[in-house]
Amino acid sequence: MVKPKKKLGQHFLINTEAANRIVDSLTGHHGYKNLVEIGPGTGALTCLLLNTEFQLTTIEIDEEAAGYLKRYLPEDVELILADVLSTDWSRFGEQFGVLGNLPYNISSQILFMIFDHREQVQECVLMLQKEVAERIASSPGSREYGILSVLLQAFYDVELLFTLPPTDFFPPPDVHSAVIRMRRNKIDKLNCDEKLFVRLVKAGFNQRRKKLRNALKPVIGEQPETDLVLQKRAEQLTWQDFVGLAQRFKK
Ligand code: SAM
Repeated sequence: MVKPKKKLGQHFLINTEAANRIVDSLTGHHGYKNLVEIGPGTGALTCLLLNTEFQLTTIEIDEEAAGYLKRYLPEDVELILADVLSTDWSRFGEQFGVLGNLPYNISSQILFMIFDHREQVQECVLMLQKEVAERIASSPGSREYGILSVLLQAFYDVELLFTLPPTDFFPPPDVHSAVIRMRRNKIDKLNCDEKLFVRLVKAGFNQRRKKLRNALKPVIGEQPETDLVLQKRAEQLTWQDFVGLAQRFKK
């Protein structure tokens, strides 16, 4: 067996019913054929994915886990021994799905990478720390609502599917977990300068207690106090409101 390594976020899923539920949550949305599993570890999800219609690629950073898993994989399943964050995702094809029980210490970075590859990534089924999952799925006005909620909800329909207790893993993590599904919506491009949209979202939430008039000053300069939208805080705005701001303040 593989000795779990804490620094790689290795908490192996030991609840087979939950594993089945996760894999069954894939819908093949928009007809993608290639599926990438991030962090297969010792294969709790991988072995079930072998029975699906998807062409599977797995990407694992841990040499020991990869060596263990390799023995059980058929030849047509690629196992890339690499850091998912420094991998060129264009190798996965023009359209693909992403599944993974993610290493929680880098889950936000992976979610930003999914956002950056939104043209390719049609569907994700991801296990995350429960708080992170709730944040991504949350609505404006809630305390959890943040940068990733706005950016991902602009391009994905996000669903929080179910939660799992620490005892479903070995070793048990300190936190509860939740599975989300994100399916690409019909929006190809936002009706604004998307780089400016991202800058506004980030600037707004980086100082989330401040009103937008102040929080966004580095991006949009001094604006009149009478501007009603800018009297609000970032957490009160939908992604469509941020698009509206990006349209108004385009250079
Ligand atoms: N999929 C397995 C399961 O459900 O039992 C393992 C999940 S475990 C929470 C996370 C996995 O991601 C580990 O196997 C770990 O080695 C791997 N991992 C951690 N950091 C990684 C990275 N930067 N790139 C690729 N895999 C990584």
